[in-house]
Amino acid sequence: MKLATRMGRLGTETAFEVLAKARALEAQGKEVVHLEIGEPDFDTPRNIVDAGVAALQGGWTHYGPSAGLPELRAAIAKHISETRGVNYTADNVVVTPGGKPIMFYVIMAMAEEGDEVIYPNPGFPIYESMINFMGAKAVPIPLREERDFCFSIDEFRSLITPRTRLVIINSPQNPTGSVLCKEDLQEIARLAVKHDFWVLADEIYGHILYEGEHHSISAFPGMPERTIILDGFSKTYAMTGWRIGYGVMPLELVPHISRLMTNSNSCTASFTQRAALEALTGPQDDAYRMVAEFKRRRDVIVDGLNAIKGITCLRPKGAFYVFPNIKGTGKTSREIADYLLYEAGVATLSGTAFGAYGEGYLRLSYANSVENIQKALKRIEAAVARL
Ligand code: PLP
Repeated sequence: MKLATRMGRLGTETAFEVLAKARALEAQGKEVVHLEIGEPDFDTPRNIVDAGVAALQGGWTHYGPSAGLPELRAAIAKHISETRGVNYTADNVVVTPGGKPIMFYVIMAMAEEGDEVIYPNPGFPIYESMINFMGAKAVPIPLREERDFCFSIDEFRSLITPRTRLVIINSPQNPTGSVLCKEDLQEIARLAVKHDFWVLADEIYGHILYEGEHHSISAFPGMPERTIILDGFSKTYAMTGWRIGYGVMPLELVPHISRLMTNSNSCTASFTQRAALEALTGPQDDAYRMVAEFKRRRDVIVDGLNAIKGITCLRPKGAFYVFPNIKGTGKTSREIADYLLYEAGVATLSGTAFGAYGEGYLRLSYANSVENIQKALKRIEAAVARL
């Protein structure tokens, strides 16, 4: 079979591959603790499920507008305006099946051959994949443990060239749980205006924050006209399988991203959008309860990992991941991840699944019960001691 050359440049998300390996072990009767996959283990809150069911029964089963249902776009604009402190209207919003398509569309719409896109490394693997796929140049900004996995602004400055078209930031971050401080965001914003590049701000974990408040780069001077906020419902409302997210962007970009929707998905499922409307406008107690529970689990996993010889772990400020340093084990990230899966029955991801700068680390998702986290910690401790 002859495929288009660009297919050779398309990356992937290893989490799904590790999940498949873990499932294969389970099929052989082995028991595996799943700390590899990045989704809340909670059910979607009841009021949202009820709204989805009511929508299905009420006939919300037809095509809708490509950019999303007007009432949902309006609710998203209100929510983003209130939480980011920038005035957006429904016309700034494009609803998509998950937040992920926003990465795809924005990189496709903005970056072409010869353009440079700066992206965090370690970072969500789809950024690098899509930049390469579009034929643009992927320029990693390393996130280092000694800087709490935040940008070194000096290093960032040195990466900017006249070809820098787009910068991707993600805070709170996957895979490290790091949060960009207000001062760093301000400086990135200043550089964006000065060098005339756009920012794709992946704020999908914006609600899952344990200290301080969420700051959006969109709120800095000159930024509403050059920022695309990516957000969605998967993480905040435990709605990963519903497939719904959105981009909030300058008006001039909206028709182009909508046209990409028309060309690919036509529209996001109408009943899913009705459920999302309930998520935003209904009670928020469950969303807050989940964050409180994640915080409790974060402390269990961080303390537990730090008690294991050969492993150290920072205490992340957001998202539901930890990124422990495993250099003390003397093994590579890949070796340790495989070893823990096959010898200890704990599924984790190698730090290198998030880029070359993830070597020396593992990513563990703590979207699992405290009981399972404790079981995994015991198994990891015993397995590492046998090395
Ligand atoms: N951005 C980041 C950093 C993520 O970790 C994820 C999911 O894992 C997404 C975006 C996309 O989420 P979804 O497409 O489910 O909205």
